[in-house]
Amino acid sequence: MKKVLFLFSDTGGGHRSATEAIVEALELSYPGSFQISQVDVFKEYAPRPLDKTPDLYPEMTKLPLAWEVGYKLTDGQRRARMLQTTFRPAIKRAVARIKQDHPADLYVSVHPLFNAGFIRELGPERPLFMTVVTDMITAHSFWYAPAVDVCIVATEQARQRAIDNGVHPSKVDVIGLPVSQAHTRAPGDRKEYCRLLGYPEDLPVVLLVGGGEGMGPLQLTARALSKLDTPFALAIIAGRNKELLAEMRRKQWGRPVFFYGFEKRMPEMMRAASLLVTKAGPGTISEAMNAHLPTVLYSRLPGQEDGNVDFVVNSGTGYWAPGPERTAAAVHRILSNPSILAGMRQQCALHARPEAATRIAARIASELAGLPD
Ligand code: UDP
Repeated sequence: MKKVLFLFSDTGGGHRSATEAIVEALELSYPGSFQISQVDVFKEYAPRPLDKTPDLYPEMTKLPLAWEVGYKLTDGQRRARMLQTTFRPAIKRAVARIKQDHPADLYVSVHPLFNAGFIRELGPERPLFMTVVTDMITAHSFWYAPAVDVCIVATEQARQRAIDNGVHPSKVDVIGLPVSQAHTRAPGDRKEYCRLLGYPEDLPVVLLVGGGEGMGPLQLTARALSKLDTPFALAIIAGRNKELLAEMRRKQWGRPVFFYGFEKRMPEMMRAASLLVTKAGPGTISEAMNAHLPTVLYSRLPGQEDGNVDFVVNSGTGYWAPGPERTAAAVHRILSNPSILAGMRQQCALHARPEAATRIAARIASELAGLPD
């Protein structure tokens, strides 16, 4: 049986979501055909203190200016190579252990940091290597390894960036961002989902999400939204940010508010909601498009998420309204104008890529079929 190994890490929630969506599609389309493993490379194979990166990630992203400087200073193939050289001993050890623990015919990297350096350390007799890029447009150069066998991206702009970073055009495939099968269901009857989740059926529901880690000014945004005169219920997802969740739960909110930590029912919540307010995480944005759910973006990580903002705004599926007051004004405007909301929903339907995970699974299967037994 051919073996596939997925490399990802919980720096945010999106790399795991995309990995699980592809694994699910592989199991549905080719049941029992492949032996599949997944590793969180930082947690399981990085030396101290790098193994703590997933835990430190939310803190690291709290200083947007420092993040932006870091992104710009390291972006570009030459700079990316320099950094990989610095970390070469750690990468070498990690790859040697991964090879031993998970021998595979195909590696699928769903993370920016496990590409060129990994391919180099796998050596000349290496397995096939595929990268699935999960930022929509402005993906960092780390994603793009010229020596990769297949590079899957979500948009034409990301394809161009891959080529500009030295990946041969024949290796780049524009497919879309993979989302789980539950996120590909037709939107259905909103009120039915409201009943399921215990939301009032006679009010619009605004779903507020800060990625997997409850990032960005989530509480300030929630406050500004709750002060609006517009009638709606608010569902707030704090993700893995337990402190924030506890703090918000202690406060008074003056309208129906529902609080959650890390939620598994995101597909149902997106189908109960009328509007999503989120930081510009690519996974959440793509899932919302599949639910025909318009979006207001309240913040973004500079650099990698800039292009996600462009994608939402240019596709007409959402607004860019950074800062709590602007976010609240955008929510008020959209909810007060049913025709705006309806237009945005139509654009979501046009731009959704529900087949992305299944197509990526098919590409994996065809790459493996080309290998000798
Ligand atoms: N997510 C989830 N439950 C939560 C919060 C987030 O399942 O309570 C998922 C969300 O549906 C998406 C991912 O986590 O698939 C977040 O990915 P995104 O790319 O939007 O942002 P990131 O957290 O990677 O910055």
